[in-house]
Amino acid sequence: MTARLIDGKAAAATLRARVAEAAGEFKRQGGRAPGLAVVLVGEHPPSAAYVRSKAKATVEAGMESFEHRLPSETSQDELMALVDRLNADDRVDGILVQMPLPKHMDEAAVLTRVDPAKDVDGFHPVNAGLLATGLDGLVPCTPLGCLMLLEQELGDLSGLDAIVVGRSNIVGKPMAQLLIRASCTVTVAHSRTRDLAGAVRRADIVIAAVGRPELIRGDWLKPGATVIDVGQERVEQADGTRKLLGDVQFEEALEVAGAITPVPGGVGPMTIACLLRNTVVAAHRRSGLADPAGL
Ligand code: NAP
Repeated sequence: MTARLIDGKAAAATLRARVAEAAGEFKRQGGRAPGLAVVLVGEHPPSAAYVRSKAKATVEAGMESFEHRLPSETSQDELMALVDRLNADDRVDGILVQMPLPKHMDEAAVLTRVDPAKDVDGFHPVNAGLLATGLDGLVPCTPLGCLMLLEQELGDLSGLDAIVVGRSNIVGKPMAQLLIRASCTVTVAHSRTRDLAGAVRRADIVIAAVGRPELIRGDWLKPGATVIDVGQERVEQADGTRKLLGDVQFEEALEVAGAITPVPGGVGPMTIACLLRNTVVAAHRRSGLADPAGL
């Protein structure tokens, strides 16, 4: 068997086009574009690159981008004061504080300071609680993107056995909640799981969100399974170059799975598209409007 490739780039382009349409309609009705504020503290090159690409994508979707770059010696109080100003700024519909923060800062305190209605990362405990209780909040972007790819590939997920490998607050746990909401039977695995290979082998859907390159081997998979590989780690190769690897051994998995996301080009592009989607949805909800159709 050679698995179908799940094209995250194409799915993200479609979603971004829908977001741009909804943002344009919002502007026509309300007189202003939806706005996303991104806060970067300190000099962390990968974070700076993420912030640049998020700002570019925001503008391309016809939304307003507010970038705030603060020096690494910024105090917690100064950052909190900026979050408060953004919470109060009516032009700002979404606030994203880029992680990791410098070591002297309390990340949880910062995340919980963001107004839940503007928490487009979906990390605030209020949004985590809404997701866990099946209510409408803002859902973390990466798992939301994974769910969209799964639904595009499989349609109705109801009754399928799914395993989520990883239990982080930003990927694993919200992913499991979304799959429960989609009526899957869900197993959540982590570093203490006994017989991980056996657990993976029972699953129709495998979500790998571990950060251990190529941990999941082809012979762990149930033939025909749908595999979503969230992992993305840069690994030095024998020739000294660095390659982006997922959590699944891709070539082996291709022979067994029914469908699989490549790394790169799978989950990654959907994450930014879902951030834009959350921003336009937040703008509508804050203005008392229904969510845009198709988002
Ligand atoms: P994380 O916070 O480090 O969590 C990793 C999870 O994997 C933990 O729950 C950990 O278990 C579990 N784990 C570690 N070793 C394991 C093992 N040998 N067997 C089973 N489970 C194991 O990571 P994260 O933030 O969720 O990110 C995971 C990966 O996704 C990373 O590669 C990250 O770069 C990538 N990512 C990609 C995107 C994207 O847009 N494509 C977005 C976010 C993250 P314990 O809880 O027991 O420690």
